[in-house]
Amino acid sequence: MSVMMQEMSWQEFDKKRKDSILFLPVGSTEQHGPMLPLSVDCVISAGICQELAERVDGIVAPTICYGYKSAPLSGGGPLFPGTVDLNGSTLQNLVYDVLEEFIRDGVKKFFIHNGHYENEAFIVEAIDLLSRKHEEVTFIESSWWDVMSDSVIDKVFDEFEYPGIELEHAGVLETSLTMYFRPELVRMERFVEDGVEEELNFRIYPPSKIKVPKTGLLTTARTSSREKGELLVRDIVDHYLDIIRERM
Ligand SMILES: [Zn+2]
Repeated sequence: MSVMMQEMSWQEFDKKRKDSILFLPVGSTEQHGPMLPLSVDCVISAGICQELAERVDGIVAPTICYGYKSAPLSGGGPLFPGTVDLNGSTLQNLVYDVLEEFIRDGVKKFFIHNGHYENEAFIVEAIDLLSRKHEEVTFIESSWWDVMSDSVIDKVFDEFEYPGIELEHAGVLETSLTMYFRPELVRMERFVEDGVEEELNFRIYPPSKIKVPKTGLLTTARTSSREKGELLVRDIVDHYLDIIRERM
């Protein structure tokens, strides 16, 4: 049987809900340069949840595919067509409402998996407020880049140094992971060498593309591969399985 909730009947969901971990992927709809789809953050977030749920017989809830406002030097910002941003309170309420519905359904263990850098504070706030009301429920929240091993990062960044997760937007990590989960969505023939030359040490409003490359590529993705994607997925999934075994 599929672990994806949207592919289950209500009776199938009913049988699993009380004893299973429910995985909630959260992503965004955001530009990821010319060679990647707008859904990258959802594809990666949900893909890792599916791998985990298959290992622990969990349930993967439908992905939240809109995220908090893209920032110029971590996602390219709001001025790219196709980047669709939520206000922080909207995201917080959305996560809160969805999780509370599952709690009403009797779910006791949640793994909330984030794939969009700017989301995290609002997801965590929703969880914290729910946790105060439902002390019997366990929530684990994490973004995939938080659990990568240094040794795997060294293997993935074999030609140049890891620029850090903020600038690693549509870079080697996200491109390799998308090649692993949805290879048909990656068009490397459209890739151009580009990147941020100098970081901005202030914020300016109205939003501006100061120092944001025209392509939306904040760093290079030149050395991406499906094999690197697989290496990353194995590493991330193993770390999460350890956390789940110890804490849930
Ligand atoms: Zn992304």
